[in-house]
Amino acid sequence: MNPQNPFASADTRPTCKEMLQTILDGQATEEQIAYFKDHMCACLPCHSSYDLEITIKQMLQTKCCGGEAPADLVARIKSQLSISA
Ligand SMILES: [Zn+2]
Repeated sequence: MNPQNPFASADTRPTCKEMLQTILDGQATEEQIAYFKDHMCACLPCHSSYDLEITIKQMLQTKCCGGEAPADLVARIKSQLSISA
């Protein structure tokens, strides 16, 4: 028996990407975050996408390259992991 998906509205079933985007946008409720963390354990694409996005965010926040966002580097990492943005 599956638990109720807190991302779902009415009979709409959100995709992995939509759930991930909600989390990364900081718009997820605690319930949604808890659900997604559970989901990540069983969903490798979500797990690697989440890890990657957090790594990129932290990289950009530290502004290690004098404040310039290494956009091409980010794109290269993403393409290597076959993530469609
Ligand atoms: Zn997933």
